[in-house]
Amino acid sequence: MEVLLAEEFGFCFGVERAVDMVEEALAEGGGIRSLGALIHNSQEMQRLEAKGVTTINSPSEADRNVTSVIRAHGVTPGVQHELEESSAHVIDATCPFVTRVQHLAERAAKEGRDVVVAGNPDHPEMIGVVGYAPDNTYVVRDASEVEKLPMLRRPLVVSQTTLKLQTFLDVAEAVRAKSETEPQVINTICSATRDRQDAARALAGQVDAFYVIGGRHSSNSVKLLAVCLEQCEHSFLIETADEINPEDLAGVRRVGVTAGASTPNWLIEQVVEKLRTIDNTEAATVA
Ligand code: SF4
Repeated sequence: MEVLLAEEFGFCFGVERAVDMVEEALAEGGGIRSLGALIHNSQEMQRLEAKGVTTINSPSEADRNVTSVIRAHGVTPGVQHELEESSAHVIDATCPFVTRVQHLAERAAKEGRDVVVAGNPDHPEMIGVVGYAPDNTYVVRDASEVEKLPMLRRPLVVSQTTLKLQTFLDVAEAVRAKSETEPQVINTICSATRDRQDAARALAGQVDAFYVIGGRHSSNSVKLLAVCLEQCEHSFLIETADEINPEDLAGVRRVGVTAGASTPNWLIEQVVEKLRTIDNTEAATVA
C-alpha cells in the first residue's frame, strides 16, 4: 500500500513558532505557564506538560518566579501588561499575522476611524484584537450583522486570520453601505487553513482512503475531513496511530495522509509508520 502525504499538512507557521519558543525556554530550565492552552492538541499538550508547561486561565495564576507565555492567538494589551507584572518573564508567541491585525486596528483607532473585523467575537484572537481599539472596533460574524451597525467613520475592514474569504468579502461589501467614504479593506486572512484544504483536495481524488490526523474538537481538522470526504468516502479523522483500523484498509492501494494545523510532526510520523506496516494485500492485518 502506497502512503501519500498531502503537500501541505500539520503545524502552521504560528503554532510551530510558539512551540519552538516554548521549547527553547524549557531548555534553559524551569517551568513555563501558558495563558490558555498553548496548542489545541491533547497529545502535544501532554508532551509539553511532561516537560514543565502548565496552563493557566488568567494572569492572576502566574508566578513571579516563573516564565509565562502568550500563545499564538494573542491577548489584549491589558492582559499582556498584567501578565508582565506577575511573571518572571513573558514570552510573546503571538503569531505575527495576528499582531498585524492588532496593529492595523490600533492605528486606525488612533486616526479616529472605526474598525470592522469579520470574525467570531468570542474567539480569543478577536478578544485580543478588540483590546487594541476597544472604543472603535466592531466584530461581526457575517454581512447580516453589519446591517445592525451605526454609520461608520472612515472604516477599516480586516478579518480574523482563519475566516473564509467569501465571508470577509461579503462583510466588506456590506460595510460600503454603512459608510459615506470608501472603506479601507485589508485582507488579513492567513493562508494556512486554505493551503491545507487545497492540498487535501488535490490528493483526495487520487487515493482509496484518507486519514486526517487532528483533534476531534479542532475545527480546522474537522473541515479537512469534510474536504477529503467530498472525493474519498473512506476518509477518517484520527487523533493517533492507535485509531487506525486495518479493516478499513482492505483492498486499498493508495492511502492519503494530512493533518490539522495543531498536529505535531511526531504524531504524523507515527501514523505514516503504522500505515507502512499494514499488509492489506490479502487480508486486512498488521504485518
Ligand atoms: S493559522 Fe495562520 S494566523 Fe493562525 S497561528 Fe497559524 S499561521 Fe498564525
